[in-house]
Amino acid sequence: MKSITIVGGGLAGLTLGIGLRQHGVPAALWEAGHYPRHRVCGEFISGRGQETLARLGLRELLERAGAVGADTAAFFSATQSTRPVPLPSRAICLSRFTLDQLLANEFQKLSGELWAGKRWNDGDAGEGIVRATGRRLQPEEGGARWFGLKAHASNVSLTAGLEMHVSPRGYVGLCRVNGGQVNVCGLFRRRAGESVGTQNRREWLCGPIGSPLHQRLASAEFDEDSFCAVAGLSLQPQQAAVRNECCVGDAITMIPPVTGNGMSMAFESAELAIEPLAAWSRGEISWAETRPQIARRCDAAFARRLAWAKWLQRFVLTPALQNTLVRFAAKNDWFWRMAFERTR
Ligand SMILES: Cc1cc2nc3c(=O)[nH]c(=O)nc-3n(C[C@H](O)[C@H](O)[C@H](O)COP(=O)(O)OP(=O)(O)OC[C@H]3O[C@@H](n4cnc5c(N)ncnc54)[C@H](O)[C@@H]3O)c2cc1C
Repeated sequence: MKSITIVGGGLAGLTLGIGLRQHGVPAALWEAGHYPRHRVCGEFISGRGQETLARLGLRELLERAGAVGADTAAFFSATQSTRPVPLPSRAICLSRFTLDQLLANEFQKLSGELWAGKRWNDGDAGEGIVRATGRRLQPEEGGARWFGLKAHASNVSLTAGLEMHVSPRGYVGLCRVNGGQVNVCGLFRRRAGESVGTQNRREWLCGPIGSPLHQRLASAEFDEDSFCAVAGLSLQPQQAAVRNECCVGDAITMIPPVTGNGMSMAFESAELAIEPLAAWSRGEISWAETRPQIARRCDAAFARRLAWAKWLQRFVLTPALQNTLVRFAAKNDWFWRMAFERTR
């Protein structure tokens, strides 16, 4: 059988590697970083990707690693809030520190070849190469510079499994993860001249003084080692079919983080790629057939949710609409339930 090279050992790359090994396909995975490591992520796993995890036998591993179930959500702006409302389907929350390591171990247990700390520099459009390198860098989008920031904190009480706080700068999600910590993760718009560094990263995460978020995090004790940031995020939806390479996960496109569905898309896209790649490995189809087949599967699965997510993100990030939006959501359960379901 021919071997598959996976470039990038985040969730998409590792899940794909595991799925291929379960089908007996030789797989080598290159990851520029090391495990375990903190990643900027809301750590809130929600959507169809949970079914992928169950089908690949991984769901149980997450549970055993201490994943915390989230059944409710509450939304906050500067002046408005909703009560905790039941999520249409349960989410699970696990730190990326634990999750990525767990998947890397599983890949190796299945005799996958893992090259951690090795950056792939040989191009990724060749036969048998899958790009799982995560988000594509975009320094500026529509005049805005987006960045993500996250840290774990203790001594924080939450009113719901997920708290989502919006502010003119962006939004911050809070959820309890394994080990009793709360993950505090935000997406922010940086204006010219604004900086983010060790001196002011707490200010970004804790929100404006007097806001519900600031009150919630007033006694938070942050784990300094868990702070991490990413910049250059692109939030415009892209199609897999327009890519020259065979891609999975954020390498196809990044769904706006407000949906809490990016990890799910990483798991799902990896699963959608397994069968065609296994067929290529066995010599049953050519690479020229394999790559578009995977792209078509991913585009069919994700087009609708990406379109809804684009609008949701736009509403949530428009400062003039934020209070109205939360007030409306507080009175109309159907509104946010619909937004939740359509972005999954
Ligand atoms: C602020 C923010 C909050 C989020 N919150 C949530 C949430 O609550 N729920 C959710 O589901 N999703 C969330 N997401 C999205 C989620 O984190 C991503 O969708 C998910 O991590 C994508 O997985 P991936 O494997 O495609 O990419 P990644 O996890 O980014 O992995 C890509 C890997 O490729 C490696 N790599 C890159 N180039 C090379 C190379 N040349 N050679 C070797 N290795 C390479 C990188 O080191 C990296 O480890 C959030 C994202 C942001 C920015």
